[in-house]
Amino acid sequence: MKEHVYRIVVPTPFPVGNVNMYLIKGDSLTLIDAGVKTKEAWHSFQQQLRQIGYAPSDIDQVVITHHHPDHVGLLDYLPDSLPVIGHWKADRWVRQDEAFFQQHQRFFEQFLLECGVDRLFLAELSHLRGSLRYACRRPLTATIKEGDSLPGLPHWKVIETPGHAQSHVVFYRETDGAMIGGDHLLLHISPNPMMEPPFPGEMERPKPLVQYNASLLKMRDYDISFVMTGHGEDVTDVSALIEKRLRKQRERAEQVLDMLKQKPHTVFQICQKLFPAVYQKELMLTMSETIGQLDYLEENGAVRKKKENDYYVYEAVEGSICG
Ligand SMILES: [Zn+2]
Repeated sequence: MKEHVYRIVVPTPFPVGNVNMYLIKGDSLTLIDAGVKTKEAWHSFQQQLRQIGYAPSDIDQVVITHHHPDHVGLLDYLPDSLPVIGHWKADRWVRQDEAFFQQHQRFFEQFLLECGVDRLFLAELSHLRGSLRYACRRPLTATIKEGDSLPGLPHWKVIETPGHAQSHVVFYRETDGAMIGGDHLLLHISPNPMMEPPFPGEMERPKPLVQYNASLLKMRDYDISFVMTGHGEDVTDVSALIEKRLRKQRERAEQVLDMLKQKPHTVFQICQKLFPAVYQKELMLTMSETIGQLDYLEENGAVRKKKENDYYVYEAVEGSICG
């Protein structure tokens, strides 16, 4: 049977603006991503669904590209019986159980202290619950991983693309090179590599920016004709976009390396210099971005860190250039 992919666009209360969802009509009806939990998004979703001839009760399954609120929130408006499928690393975020909130809190307290953040700023951490108010609160019913096919859609393959989120996956249709890319490749913005706590059994924290760059390079292994993105228009020239993202990344890291060539810094000191106007208001976001640059430089051998008291101090390696 002929397959059809519809795009549904709903508003979000976030600076990113609208978010895209995709409805794949094959033998069954699959919704890829599920907007944000606001009444506006829900009404807009229902209206667009009606225009293409469906009701929420017609949806057979929902698959998510990653766990961020603007991609899962509407799940709370959809029937409890609906199968919800995503990478297993998304489950703790959509489930939102108490043990995870506590683990999250403990990890970030330790992490931020090691970054040289003053204890005064740690109050910001209790805001996780608030920041998840636009997300859903229901567990995944099935999980997917690298190389799997989407249930009921055998030619759509799962590719793991950690970076923007540890749970991030994209879906690649082998028959024509179409991709549903979540937030991995966006035309006008570079997705933030968000820090997350490690998973049980992992000894070290993730390095989201290093992972993101590797996930960008991984895209070169596929013949991609176009990407249906999570925000904004489709991406058609994928290799040009990857080049542009990697080049900008090198430029940002060079800026940080220049600061470290002047004198050693903690992560927080770098963060304050990079984001003087917003670091207090957006501590998690700006610290994720900053540690990303430092992980990247460290990975390339351009900087090294040493522990002084409770925190790390980063310094430039003699004669280093980045990447
Ligand atoms: Zn998004």
